Amino acid sequence: YMAKEGRTGIEFYVADKDRNSPERLSLLSDLRAAVDAGELDLHYQPKVKLENGQVEGVEALLRWWHPERGPVSPVEFIPLAEQSYLMREITQYVIRKALAQAARWWHDGIDVPISVNVSARDLLDSTLPEELEAGLRTFALPASAIRLEITERVLMTDQAYIAETITTLADMGVQLSLDDFGTGYSSLVRLQRLPVSEVKIDSSFVRRLAESPDDERIVRSIVDLVRSLGLRSVAEGVESLEIATRLREMGCPAGQGRWLAKPMSAYEATVWLRHRMGPAFGARAGDEARL
Ligand code: C2E
Ligand code: MG
Ligand code: MG
Ligand code: MG
Repeated sequence: YMAKEGRTGIEFYVADKDRNSPERLSLLSDLRAAVDAGELDLHYQPKVKLENGQVEGVEALLRWWHPERGPVSPVEFIPLAEQSYLMREITQYVIRKALAQAARWWHDGIDVPISVNVSARDLLDSTLPEELEAGLRTFALPASAIRLEITERVLMTDQAYIAETITTLADMGVQLSLDDFGTGYSSLVRLQRLPVSEVKIDSSFVRRLAESPDDERIVRSIVDLVRSLGLRSVAEGVESLEIATRLREMGCPAGQGRWLAKPMSAYEATVWLRHRMGPAFGARAGDEARL
């Protein structure tokens, strides 16, 4: 993507696609209808400590089942939504749904923070912190119940506004993660100044870690860099035991990926989390043996 500042703040240009093609416009209007009809669903993917398999949190990931097209990936519809006011509506929906789920799990004895992905448009809107605060109050949850993931790409856009929103959120006690790290151009200085507590290493480097010495070196240096800044790394794209083992040897504290646990429906995730961390079960030795 190329991010460019426009009159309305920010606009994304998709380099190889015509953003006004009939195909894209029809998908956008279908998306609008799906939002109104409440047809978007959240799946949840656990984030796990590599040392002992303990669950650190879950990430909420949007799923859209289009009546004719079948499943449409967020990689396709999120950039589309980002071009319109729809992004704010979608994020409001995701936050509400994630908080309701966090409250349900809390009552079930499952205390697990849910991470929500937010986009540039959300951060350019000064109402995001209020919206979050109101939601937390509605569900009687502490700020630690929710985390926000911000992509490195977003930080390169409208710095002043975004920095202000990020600071407000951090002051509220909301933890922030820097997502897709390694794909943008964050400077060291920038990373140090931001009130983020966690850096998620992009799956494009992690995935081929076991075969590619270059990728291994990149991941290793990110892990070291993040640690030296006093932050925590989470590796995305942990697809095999070998990758998990290598990451653990490098001292990467946490991971996310199909091999650890795939994204699951709310129901499946509840069953999975109950098994892993419900009060009747506690931490089980067997879970740790997997790593
Ligand atoms: P992300 O935030 O980096 O999310 C991680 C992606 O990695 C997810 O893709 C997840 O399904 C995928 N993944 C899980 N396990 C593995 C694995 O073992 N290997 C690899 N290579 N990938 C794995 P997904 O669900 O298709 O979402 C794609 C992107 O769409 C997300 O990337 C995020 O940027 C965006 N997205 C998803 N939901 C939302 C949302 O609610 N709001 C916003 N603004 N963006 C969202
Ligand atoms: Mg994310
Ligand atoms: Mg990511
Ligand atoms: Mg990604």
